[in-house]
Amino acid sequence: MQTPPDVGRTWRLALLGAPGAGKGTQAQLLTSALGACPLSTGDVFRAARDNPKRAGAALAAAQTFMARGELVPDSVVLDLIRERSRCLHCKGGFMLDGFPRTLPQARALDALLAAEKLRLDAVIYFDVAPELLLARLTGRRVCARCQAVFHIQNRPSRIDGVCDQCGGALEQRADDQPKAIAVRLDAYRKITMPLLEHYRRQDLLVAIRAEGEPAEILARTLDALVLHTPAASG
Ligand code: AMP
Repeated sequence: MQTPPDVGRTWRLALLGAPGAGKGTQAQLLTSALGACPLSTGDVFRAARDNPKRAGAALAAAQTFMARGELVPDSVVLDLIRERSRCLHCKGGFMLDGFPRTLPQARALDALLAAEKLRLDAVIYFDVAPELLLARLTGRRVCARCQAVFHIQNRPSRIDGVCDQCGGALEQRADDQPKAIAVRLDAYRKITMPLLEHYRRQDLLVAIRAEGEPAEILARTLDALVLHTPAASG
């Protein structure tokens, strides 16, 4: 697999894309390739759902929004990010997956980074045709035990309904049910898409055609990152 020539530098990135665009998969691959520390707001909410005793009241309340496919209120998301603001100083850099998703969140991130004297290197936008998104979301199955992700057509498990990695049961996420998917795609179009312009204006947007095999998309992303951000920022 191709790696960027200055992979040793610190990368500070955010990932943008519709639900089903493959952000989670690319976040994992990019973490291995670049060493940037991943922070997924969706993963934090899911961990709170699976461990309700350890989650505070705000994270517990967020579950209702999430199960319906709605965005969690900005105040909850921003508290979560501020609580983890030390991650922004991670030596290996950071990769925000699923945050920001609204203009107020993007502006709050701009302010937080400015206060911490940090800058994003790029915002990677994974672009996928709308008809593909629906097929990806409805066919996705996730292991209830280890969270490995499968797809009934594109990446089936060896035994139907059983995780190849740990033998756990494969489930459909509540927010991958058709009703919730419609809500998520609508929220993405109306509320998240304006962020593309926000970051384009800051010359941070790196758009990637996110169709094909994950490894191909990763290679395209690494190439585009190096082209967009040629100089090491340390
Ligand atoms: P994801 O795994 O990124 O698709 O996130 C799953 C769900 O978590 C979303 O559908 C939202 O309900 C919630 N969520 C995650 N990140 C955010 C965010 N930045 N703003 C609002 N809601 C979020």
